[in-house]
Amino acid sequence: MIKLELADRLKELPAYLFVRLGEMKNQALANGVDVIDLGIGDPDQPTPLHIRRALKRAVDHPDNLRYPSSYGMKRFREAAATWMELRFQVAVPPKDVVALIGSKEGLAHFPLAFLNPGDITLVPSPAYPVYRIATRFAGGEVFTLPLLPEKRFLPDLESVPKTVLRRAKLLFLNYPNNPTGATADLEFFERVVAFARKYDLIVAHDAAYSEIAFDGYEPPSILQIPGARECAIEFHSLSKTFNMTGFRIGFAAGCPELVAALGKIKSNLDSGQFQAVQWAAVEALENGGKDVRTIRARYQARRDILLQGLDHLRLEYQKPRGSFYVWVKTPGGMRSEEFVGRLLAEAGIMCAPGTGYGPEGEGFFRMALVVSEARMREAVKRMGKFSIHPTGPPAAASQKRAEPAAAR
Ligand SMILES: *Cc1c(COP(=O)(O)O)cnc(C)c1O
Repeated sequence: MIKLELADRLKELPAYLFVRLGEMKNQALANGVDVIDLGIGDPDQPTPLHIRRALKRAVDHPDNLRYPSSYGMKRFREAAATWMELRFQVAVPPKDVVALIGSKEGLAHFPLAFLNPGDITLVPSPAYPVYRIATRFAGGEVFTLPLLPEKRFLPDLESVPKTVLRRAKLLFLNYPNNPTGATADLEFFERVVAFARKYDLIVAHDAAYSEIAFDGYEPPSILQIPGARECAIEFHSLSKTFNMTGFRIGFAAGCPELVAALGKIKSNLDSGQFQAVQWAAVEALENGGKDVRTIRARYQARRDILLQGLDHLRLEYQKPRGSFYVWVKTPGGMRSEEFVGRLLAEAGIMCAPGTGYGPEGEGFFRMALVVSEARMREAVKRMGKFSIHPTGPPAAASQKRAEPAAAR
């Protein structure tokens, strides 16, 4: 074996959160626990049939089997632009859209286009870990914007010191938010755009959950704000919207210079997404409206079951209007990882510890609405029996596999 040493950028990283969570879950499964997995943000339902059919049709067309364009097919970029227009009433020309191999790919590569060593990125915490890691990979420094429950998990931009703002180039935002389930209205985005223009900041808005919303709420796009086209790029994903996480397709749209720079990075790093996948995405964007309504209703029904259970246990949370997460305070201020470990060991329920999303996530855990209503009821029932206070009576033994397979 040759002598190997990881690059510093990799050495400094802890194991990716979901890898660690997966190991915890496998250990519990090996111990015979019937695990209800609310830990990972991956839809449990299949991709709608008409979208899968579009993929199959496209695979048989020889034109689709060759190298795609790094920027995405013209037809895909047109479909994305039209979808933006219909959904948000924002006119984005197809040339200001770039196809992504999942929005994570675009978010992760974007800082490479604008950060030099020593430049600062403003990154919320708790947050999807990619913003921080991508900044570090690009040689940039992170300045943390805490998201606090008393501020409805919106960052306090005015609190950023002027010395930081002089070196800051990029601001990441994500609403509806993972992990907190918080949403942002146009008035907030207006303040963001004014702030960005004042301090020459690029705004990268992760809109992966723009279509996952409840109670009739329609999350806005930052591109609806006049002036956003001069400072903002928005990342969209088909993953959560159409149960297409495995397809790896999304797009970025917005400020022409930002989109072009991301495209230039991509043309030097990858050769775009398989055209058959892009055709499936065209089908979803153009004919998937009904699927979105079904998917929203399903998550909302599950949310309502879970919230009733949390209320019964007197656990604290803010009712989510978007995303498919509920962000809950641990009882009695217990440490996140301790609570999540106990919930798995004693109730067979897997959740994500808040600390996986940054130190500001301490004291919280995240529950994803990715199991059936029956399983969600079972989770609520188990939590009811689970002794949530560490000093309470001894906890019940592990839940053994007793559930009929159909309930999964
Ligand atoms: C799931 C998720 C994404 C990534 O979606 P892909 O398009 O599948 O890469 C991006 N941002 C957030 C906040 C997510 O939760």
